[in-house]
Amino acid sequence: MSESRDTVSKTWDKPLQPPDSVPESADIVVIGGGIVGVSTAWFLAKQGINVALCEKGHIAGEQSGRNWGWVRQTARDTREMPMMIESLRIWAGLADEIGEDVGFERGGCTIMARTQKELDAAAEWMPVARDFDLDTRMIEGPALETLFTGASKHWVGAMHTESDGRAEPHKATPAIARAAKRQGASILTSCAVRGIETSAGKVSAIVTEHGSIRTSTVLCAAGAWTSQFCRSIGISVPQLKVKGTVARLGQCDSVLNGNVFDEQLGIRRRQDGGYTLANGFLLNHSFALSSIRYGIKFLPALMLEYKKLRLSVGGDLLDEIRTPRKWPLDRESPFEKKRVLNPAPSKRVIRRTRRIVDKFFPQLASTEIVEAWAGIVEMTPDMVPVMCESDKVPGFFIATGFSGHGFGIGPGAGKAAAALLTDTDCGIDLSELQLKRFFDGSPIRPQSSV
Ligand SMILES: Cc1cc2nc3c(=O)[nH]c(=O)nc-3n(C[C@H](O)[C@H](O)[C@H](O)COP(=O)(O)OP(=O)(O)OC[C@H]3O[C@@H](n4cnc5c(N)ncnc54)[C@H](O)[C@@H]3O)c2cc1C
Repeated sequence: MSESRDTVSKTWDKPLQPPDSVPESADIVVIGGGIVGVSTAWFLAKQGINVALCEKGHIAGEQSGRNWGWVRQTARDTREMPMMIESLRIWAGLADEIGEDVGFERGGCTIMARTQKELDAAAEWMPVARDFDLDTRMIEGPALETLFTGASKHWVGAMHTESDGRAEPHKATPAIARAAKRQGASILTSCAVRGIETSAGKVSAIVTEHGSIRTSTVLCAAGAWTSQFCRSIGISVPQLKVKGTVARLGQCDSVLNGNVFDEQLGIRRRQDGGYTLANGFLLNHSFALSSIRYGIKFLPALMLEYKKLRLSVGGDLLDEIRTPRKWPLDRESPFEKKRVLNPAPSKRVIRRTRRIVDKFFPQLASTEIVEAWAGIVEMTPDMVPVMCESDKVPGFFIATGFSGHGFGIGPGAGKAAAALLTDTDCGIDLSELQLKRFFDGSPIRPQSSV
């Protein structure tokens, strides 16, 4: 098989496409063209609701086009499970329903353990798997070889869910956006939302760089920008950003099918015959004012994840110092100044990933890393999303904080958000995903961010 270095279309590496105009009004406006916003718009448009989606850059230009592509139930927080199970069901029928390939395939998700202690820790999640009737199982010793050749050499055991899957991030969200558009949604790219207008305390319009859209209902699905957007309208959303580096291995023979996670390596088979690689879950947090503002709420998560975290001080701190809390809506806003979050991948992380992949899969040692990129993940203090209406600004809803695992759950989140916005019941309970849980004295219960 031959392959050029640039086979993969980076969703963010294209000319921007600003709209000719914006609609005067919409029943609902969605801020953010990631998988959550786009899926919400699709579910709303399917019901005949007049929805406009504003994306400041490209559809899937940030996290939703840069992630590992795992569609995982394994090791999820119980609060996310019903939405994730529904999401997997949607993924399975998505290509047929929208008539476009999204790269979805099952093939399992496996969390490897190097020591008995790690294996025991993983097994603590098995009661959740049983409660939700998943096909998750623990595998130990020589049986590991049924997963992939050489597995029993480096690991003592694994937790494996065969029904988990994967999809191609550069395909999925743009395809859902096109489906939403075909159903009548206005999908506006290169269209930053600068702020909202209110009347009698309720949402009455959003103001974009291309003009205002009258509406009574807004969903903020702005990923890593949500906290900043919400703060400008007086809503506090505790959120910290971390950077993850990802690499693409060129086409090669299959060494494993599906997704495999080890504390030093995340690897999944790609539709193009290569592998998407990452360094386990090494997270880089660039210290900023928000680290001080929300730091205390993140202490439980920090205690859980401190081994994975690398701190740096630099650009984010300066950016936050220079950015005012509020800005006039008739001038360029922070969302236009930095239109696409496009951090540089870490060369050190790539080198380390290369070393680890060669050690575990020597068959891949001669296959080149043909591409690398990075993405900024937004974390909440308990690593579980926020999906609710603001109690400060009626008509303003939030769906954010997917904390490094929002791609797989994205279609399910879109379905749940559409129901929330239309005050209907889709069978997914969002009562534990309220923003107020971070302020009302409830214990903050983070779960490891696999
Ligand atoms: C390296 C990496 C690996 C990951 N791996 C996985 C994985 O394997 N599986 C998984 O399930 N999840 C994974 N994730 C997490 C997943 O990608 C995210 O949780 C998910 O994509 C979040 O989707 P979203 O729609 O909420 O946000 P995003 O995809 O970030 O979209 C938000 C959008 O809002 C836009 N926006 C922001 N402010 C404004 C504004 N004012 N006006 C207009 N537009 C605005 C942004 O430009 C952006 O496009 C990973 C993430 C990263 C970075």
